[in-house]
Amino acid sequence: TNDPINQKVVIITGASSGLGEATARRLAGRGAKLVLGARREDRLKALTEELKAQGAEVTWQTTDVTERKQVEALAAVAKDTFGRIDVLINNAGLMPLAPLDALKVDEWEQMVDVNIKGVMYGIAAVLPTMREQHSGHVINLSSVAGHKVFPGAAVYCATKYAVKALSEGLRMEAGDEIRSTNISPGAIATELTSTITDPDAKKAADDLYEVAIDSDAVARAIVYAIEQPADVDINEIILRPTAQE
Ligand code: NDP
Repeated sequence: TNDPINQKVVIITGASSGLGEATARRLAGRGAKLVLGARREDRLKALTEELKAQGAEVTWQTTDVTERKQVEALAAVAKDTFGRIDVLINNAGLMPLAPLDALKVDEWEQMVDVNIKGVMYGIAAVLPTMREQHSGHVINLSSVAGHKVFPGAAVYCATKYAVKALSEGLRMEAGDEIRSTNISPGAIATELTSTITDPDAKKAADDLYEVAIDSDAVARAIVYAIEQPADVDINEIILRPTAQE
């Protein structure tokens, strides 16, 4: 097959649900070799078995992206199993929305640790390998919330603006060997709102997510970025449900 995605070694963080899981399904169907990371082993195991049964080459590694060593270990699994790292998808993230006045400082720290530091650890874990290979592609999950601030979402927006800055900084420093893609979705139906503990914020999110579309829309956007020839770098994709404001 001359599918450009066939045989590419792709690491996905947060592959146990939502966008990560949908992207794993799409890429497996295109012949990518996958390394799946997240905290929930049962989910990763079940997804791996499902994809393997369809003939895909898939492995998984329990990974908490807030632990730098665990992210390094995830990258090492890719190299040990498949010999290289073509794409890292920094997808793990969480969105416990609440107004600043609610002072959910622990949740702020968790968002910084997963949404920002997790992405930085991911970049650090793959960059030397991609430099050695003289090729690679980092895809970061930002958000519409990385382009526009919403009341009740200040810290989440701050983390997604940071992700956008990391994507653009990497792009500018990467030269002609490494591609950098920032993916900014609107409302997509996943488990993302499940960490919201503030009742009013939960209600507002549920209202916004009434128009949410399926995860596969984002998976297709990620596939589009990966399948471009090596001299084409898709830097930013913003996609929303047609019905989203
Ligand atoms: P889900 O809640 O369905 O998935 C989030 C994933 O992140 C899970 O697989 C979870 O796995 C993983 N995760 C959370 N914390 C950690 C951690 N500490 N270490 C490793 N993995 C972790 O939400 P989505 O699929 O929607 O979210 C994926 C990304 O997309 C996020 O970055 C989100 O901000 C972004 N996004 C989502 C949008 C949406 O509307 N759904 C819109 C814009 C952006 P586990 O719990 O097993 O560790």
